[in-house]
Amino acid sequence: MKIVNYSVEGATDYGFLVDRTEFVPRYFIEEVLGEKIPRDIKRLLPDIELRELIKASLENVKLERVPLSSVHIEPPIKDPRKIICIALNYRDHAEEVGSKIPEEIVFFLKPPTTLIGPFDSIVKPGIAGKIDYEGELAVIIGERAKEVDSSEAMLYVFGYMVFNDVTARDLQFRDGLWRGWTMSKCFDTFAPTGPWIVSADEIEDPHNLRIITRVNKDIRQSSNTSNMIFKIPDIISYLSMVMTLEPGDIIATGTPAGIGFTREDGLLKEGDIVEVWIEKIGAIRNQLISIK
Ligand code: MG
Repeated sequence: MKIVNYSVEGATDYGFLVDRTEFVPRYFIEEVLGEKIPRDIKRLLPDIELRELIKASLENVKLERVPLSSVHIEPPIKDPRKIICIALNYRDHAEEVGSKIPEEIVFFLKPPTTLIGPFDSIVKPGIAGKIDYEGELAVIIGERAKEVDSSEAMLYVFGYMVFNDVTARDLQFRDGLWRGWTMSKCFDTFAPTGPWIVSADEIEDPHNLRIITRVNKDIRQSSNTSNMIFKIPDIISYLSMVMTLEPGDIIATGTPAGIGFTREDGLLKEGDIVEVWIEKIGAIRNQLISIK
């Protein structure tokens, strides 16, 4: 199941992709099933029974389709309760920023106001200069998880999407390494996501997906999620010891080497288009603009 969140003339709803160009809106299926499908995606995620009914009707019933090109595609989860990002989770990335390979999971939070859709613009803030990209695989939590064991952690995953952990490097490294970590990552529009959520049953192994970041078609990051230091079950288990994970929570699993900061002329300039693609999920494409 692939869930796409969209808006038409300001009204937001979600639907289910039938291929990469068309989807069936939530309310069409609601009519066919004669059963309420919650408007809030976060309430659909833990309802396995309802999701099975939706899946069956998508496969068996002839439903009216809507072209994706006729709507504005929104972030798959617009108002998660939490966005948790794992730092330094690829060895080659930790090395390129001159950091020790972490022996324990390191995480930080981004506020939901950072979220934008897969093709929306990243807005350069007035007080930040060195804007950089970080292509990442994001996990969407499907069920409430508190103090879960790694061996059961994958049961709490609903699905996956592409995530760009946009960062203002001049603020991140201000006054010594890492001091501005939170500030540098919290600006509005600094979390492009999408293009949709792919449910976990469609991804055989989330630790074997190619991930590529391009800037204006130039390949900057090219890796595989197999290179993560801490794997998804351990991340979920660890985080669930700290906080209750809830349906719709987003966990970005870290970025591989190749960020702009470590390259000559690698940072994003106004007008640049940064694309993050992950195998079996899709691509998000966002332009850096500034509002004067
Ligand atoms: Mg990151």
